[in-house]
Amino acid sequence: MTQTQTQHVDVSIVIPVYNEEESLPELMKGVSSTFDSMGKSYEVIFVDDGSTDDSFNVVRVLRETYGVGDAENVNRIKAIRFSRNSGKSAALSAGIEYACGDMIITMDADLQDDPAAIPEMLSKIDEGWDVVSGWKKVRHDPFGKTFPSKIWNAMTSMAAGLKLHDFNCGFKAYRRDAAKNLDIYGERHRYLPAMAHWDGCRVTEIVVPHHARKFGKSKYGAWRMFNGAMDMITLLFLKRYMRSPMHFFGILGMLAIMVGVGILGYFGVMWAITGAMKIRPLTLLAIGSMIMGMQFISIGLVGEMITNTTQGRRQYSVRERL
Ligand code: UDP
Ligand code: MG
Repeated sequence: MTQTQTQHVDVSIVIPVYNEEESLPELMKGVSSTFDSMGKSYEVIFVDDGSTDDSFNVVRVLRETYGVGDAENVNRIKAIRFSRNSGKSAALSAGIEYACGDMIITMDADLQDDPAAIPEMLSKIDEGWDVVSGWKKVRHDPFGKTFPSKIWNAMTSMAAGLKLHDFNCGFKAYRRDAAKNLDIYGERHRYLPAMAHWDGCRVTEIVVPHHARKFGKSKYGAWRMFNGAMDMITLLFLKRYMRSPMHFFGILGMLAIMVGVGILGYFGVMWAITGAMKIRPLTLLAIGSMIMGMQFISIGLVGEMITNTTQGRRQYSVRERL
């Protein structure tokens, strides 16, 4: 760990790996030849997200083949191995934290992203952009995946206030701080450009080539849609109300209580005038509404307490670092 903090490289490439043993050698070959022709120093950080295949041993072998870099005693291939599968967001988060490059690239391990696009991404960062997001304009994925993705991207663009065609593309380049400032957990890797944009970063996209998966299979099923939608709601909420949950729940609570008080007030007046007290559905609504209002306010207060006490949430455990 200490070694990485003193070391300096131009570019760190962070690659989340979950059971991708067949793809890694070809990927590393592509990355290495791209950088050979670019004249920038680099490091590759493989984050093995609890693979059950031989991925980590493949990384060890790659370290021997490609690892010897410009600096003595520093292997340019680094690796973090999680003790169990913790998700792509956790892997990216650990890799970015470990990275010491001025620019950080993230890419998938499955050969769907083409290292040949790296120079163009980096030149965009040199132009002054903080985040360059890949856009898989021509995709080699099944229709059942590309179609929902179109709709999802349109919705995310609207919610984020940032127009991009492909938020979820794993292939991205960041200026160091733009990446380090991101708080990536849960399934948030789908919203990184939106989060960076909210952080005040300048975000753009470039078209990147996309290949069909050659080995293994996609790690994500239909649940991705549901989890993704839930995360969007959380993100929108956190973006606005992170530091003041009471502003959100307080208003809902006060509204509900006011509805209740209004209706009960009406019954009170009727009672005073006619002397008759009737239980009507409306009475129940009034009482329900007041209880709901108090609930909202309590939830808001609990939210405030959480906001005030949580610091960092480590969500992966590391077995080994190379
Ligand atoms: N991945 C990971 N942890 C997981 C699932 C996936 O590190 O729990 C990695 C995976 O090895 C790949 C990248 O994230 O490098 C994208 O995964 P995949 O190709 O399965 O997603 P898709 O391309 O189908 O969106
Ligand atoms: Mg893939």
